Amino acid sequence: MAKAVRVSAKEKQDENRRRWGMVIDLDRCTGCQACVVACHAENNVPVVGEQEAARSHSMHWIRIERYWEGEYPNVKARFMPVLCQHCGEAPCEPVCPVFATYHTPEGLNAQVYNRCIGTRYCGSACPYKVRVFNWFRPDFPEPLEQQLNPDVSVRQRGIIEKCSFCVQRIRRVELDADASGREVEDGEVQPACVQSCPPSALIFGDLNDPESEASQLARSRRAFRLLDFLGTDPAVIYLKGGETNV
Ligand code: SF4
Repeated sequence: MAKAVRVSAKEKQDENRRRWGMVIDLDRCTGCQACVVACHAENNVPVVGEQEAARSHSMHWIRIERYWEGEYPNVKARFMPVLCQHCGEAPCEPVCPVFATYHTPEGLNAQVYNRCIGTRYCGSACPYKVRVFNWFRPDFPEPLEQQLNPDVSVRQRGIIEKCSFCVQRIRRVELDADASGREVEDGEVQPACVQSCPPSALIFGDLNDPESEASQLARSRRAFRLLDFLGTDPAVIYLKGGETNV
């Protein structure tokens, strides 16, 4: 049985602040990859093609890992979406010599693209291997350049990039709420992967709000965090598949 996710001292200390996080229900994920496509479209992530992928130059901010459960012929495919875990104790942050990666007060692991000098120390330090390096200047031949999202920069060759929890969407919702003099409502912020997932396997919200759907699911007995024993304190919580929800 998966044990409930513990609340770290850092989370308790920051409990008056938001901590953005995501819950991923592995029982619901069908491996359709709609989240991967949505992430590419939203964040101007280039498609590197088959040849570059074969040279380990793949470029995705979210990947779907596939596992097999059981023995042939009674095997079942299981899928696990893996993205930046926005760790509270992120191993990538202290190793960057130019502070291109840092922690925001809302718990996001941010990346300053025009500060990155491409040492890739962060990519080596990340145990989840969710940071990707731009080996080439991305190419968006006409008319593809017209689909680029103007809220997101197009990254250049020689830098590391990764999932931002669609921070541009978070900021837009926060600004709209501020302008209307109200609080951000639970479920109002929808990163592209969350919005596109057909079975709603991804739930995004404030983990410091005990009433939010994400924090309630994070307290499920099915909840676990990837490589939790490393002490990275991830903000992505998985719900174990194959058990009834609680
Ligand atoms: S869109 Fe949803 S169901 Fe499809 S792979 Fe992504 S998380 Fe799984």
